[in-house]
Amino acid sequence: MKNQIQLGLLIFTIACVILLGYNVYLREITPPEQTYTEFITSLQQGEIINVHLRGSQVTGEYASGKKFSSYAPDVASLLPQLLEKNIHISAEPEAEKGIVTFFKFLLPMSMLYGAWLVFKRKSSGSSSAFNLGRHSRFTPVKSDRVTFRDVAGISEAKVELLEIVEFLKQPEKYSRLGAKIPKGVLLQGAPGTGKTLLAKAIAGEASVSFFSLGGSDFVEMFVGVGASRVRDLFAEAKRSAPCIIFIDEIDAIGGKRSGNTATGANDEREQTLNALLVEMDGFSSDKAVIVVAATNRPDILDPALMRPGRFDRQITIALPDVKGRTKILGVHAQQIAMDKSIDLAAIARSVPGFSGAEIANLVNEAALMAGRKNKKKVELIDFEEAKDKIIMGLEQKSIVVSEQNRRVTAYHEAGHAIVGMMLEETDPLHKITIIPRGRAMGLTQHLPLDDQHTYSREYLVNRIKTLLGGRVAETLVFNRLTTGASNDITMATEIATRLVCEWGMSSSIGPISYRMENESFLSHAGSSKPYSEVTAEKIDNEITSVISECYEEAEKILRKHNKFLHKFAEALLINETMDAEEVDIVFRSYVRERKVELELSGKRS
Ligand code: ADP
Ligand code: ZN
Repeated sequence: MKNQIQLGLLIFTIACVILLGYNVYLREITPPEQTYTEFITSLQQGEIINVHLRGSQVTGEYASGKKFSSYAPDVASLLPQLLEKNIHISAEPEAEKGIVTFFKFLLPMSMLYGAWLVFKRKSSGSSSAFNLGRHSRFTPVKSDRVTFRDVAGISEAKVELLEIVEFLKQPEKYSRLGAKIPKGVLLQGAPGTGKTLLAKAIAGEASVSFFSLGGSDFVEMFVGVGASRVRDLFAEAKRSAPCIIFIDEIDAIGGKRSGNTATGANDEREQTLNALLVEMDGFSSDKAVIVVAATNRPDILDPALMRPGRFDRQITIALPDVKGRTKILGVHAQQIAMDKSIDLAAIARSVPGFSGAEIANLVNEAALMAGRKNKKKVELIDFEEAKDKIIMGLEQKSIVVSEQNRRVTAYHEAGHAIVGMMLEETDPLHKITIIPRGRAMGLTQHLPLDDQHTYSREYLVNRIKTLLGGRVAETLVFNRLTTGASNDITMATEIATRLVCEWGMSSSIGPISYRMENESFLSHAGSSKPYSEVTAEKIDNEITSVISECYEEAEKILRKHNKFLHKFAEALLINETMDAEEVDIVFRSYVRERKVELELSGKRS
């Protein structure tokens, strides 16, 4: 395909050059043109000595040796005049010389042929020659410049991707062992969190080719174009293996397939998605072509994309926390002349909710501010002004989390954590954050509950209390209910339900399983119940009482440790993300203060 387009262009160009050359040549050999009147006048005055006739074309020579050419409207009436003046006449038939005819015929033909070759490529669904920029998308970029060092603050994602880099560097090492290499990595995260940068860095670290294009580039007006573009892309990539194909905004093609709405646009999208899946299933994994896709809407992606052998590695990139933002600031600050006294951590702290791209923008804006003031170094005041400018713009887009929201989230997450800490038999706290991720405003990570292990009733009940701790804390401090706890409540309800119906852990129901096969307990409404209405009521009551007991217990804990709750939330607002160790530091300082307090109150009484 690519060769054809080149051949077409070559033929076209050569034909043009020949035609141009021929015209120039004709002009060279054709003497200056004269009007018929001038010619007749010269003839009558006897200035002309010979004439050559070819059809109505007259060429000739003056006595002075000068050549001329003209056109005779009526050769028959011209001839007697020529004879009368005794001029030497030569003539030839009007028909052109064979070679000239041949060229005049061949040139337009070859031009047409060339143009046809070029257009054929367009109509067969590939990028058109008139869009060479687009065509070049399939040309890999060798990018040695971006490495992991340029990507700051997302060390967890980097660790996972290092493996991919390893493989790209030495594919044989793995394929020799028969190991199946991941084909696809899905990077999910808010816009500007560095997904593109990370993909480039993988290619840079492994120094392999990098094909980059956006999901929406595939979706064109014409059905079938996107699908064939996908095939072209993979064909090209296989030729350049090892390499990385980066598809930005894969949700543009990878959204859930609807099946019923058969509008043209959907049809095209589905064909494109199918082509992508076929290609990914098709290439053998020793080919060392790894597809990295990015999205900020993982929720709308077609589950087929996530199957083994496709995008089975999913890496979530969260918005950076204070430490992350400080590091990203560090990376970008290297590129500007900055006053050494600037405390990057302080700037980072002042821009909660900023993504990597917004931080990069902040640094650049600050440099521009300083430039406008003819400074030699970028100072703190420039950062302040740049920040104001950016946040003012962002507020309209409501990307930046409002201060009130942050406070509520901090208390909510602290509530989870504290209830968990104060109870026996709970999972240890892993990490707690108030950085929004997807739809969740914050996150308190404990180990996930999974079916592989056995759990005690104690553990499960405490888990429910921990889940409810978020809502309890919000209510205690702000006396307001928010929707932020909806996911917690769903999970608490599910555990309580299974506790009663599946695990037989409630006293009034006893060890009887009311579990239905393949049925989620959350959707049992409407399904046939293998138990009586009376039992159903008993189950409902039991579930309600488990939940309300847990709620009360959580409330008791948080009331008792009210001071810790405030301390914890304040620490979260400052740090945004805390690991177990950092939480422990806050806890110990609380215990110390509380001891002093108790001692004091003890002395007083
Ligand atoms: P995404 O693809 O997630 O929308 P990009 O990778 O395009 O985000 O990020 C845009 C720019 O923001 C990058 O070119 C880089 O300058 C900056 N950036 C984003 N995240 C980071 C990071 N973690 N470290 C350094 N720079 C970052
Ligand atoms: Zn919660």
